[in-house]
Amino acid sequence: MPDCIFCKIAAGEIPATVVYEDDEILAFEDIHPVAPVHILLIPRRHFASLDEAGENNGPLLGRILLAAARIAREKGIASRGYRVLTNCNADGGQEVFHIHFHLLGGRRLRTLG
Ligand code: 5GP
Ligand code: ZN
Repeated sequence: MPDCIFCKIAAGEIPATVVYEDDEILAFEDIHPVAPVHILLIPRRHFASLDEAGENNGPLLGRILLAAARIAREKGIASRGYRVLTNCNADGGQEVFHIHFHLLGGRRLRTLG
């Protein structure tokens, strides 16, 4: 997607602090972290949100969650705990319309809502 900021990060056209990458997934530090660990995980291939995910995206979404768990262990926050979430569309608070998962941790997180 030409005007998608996360597609540009995935293509290396915009710099980001990458913490994990493979042929399908990229994980990088959020530019405005709200927790000591705040990493975004995206599929390289663009789709806008969880609402646009198809059944065929199941394995990819599973791999993203497992990559988040691995990064959490590497960052040393796994035993104390962390949160993985995706914001979907306007009421969900989504601002960047290339699906992404936030990995948040390193402090006690408030309850949602
Ligand atoms: P959303 O509300 O869509 O779930 O969150 C988008 C996230 O992307 C925000 O936490 C924001 O700080 C982050 N973000 C927006 N633009 C950039 C960018 O250019 N680089 C990085 N690393 N993060 C970004
Ligand atoms: Zn994109």
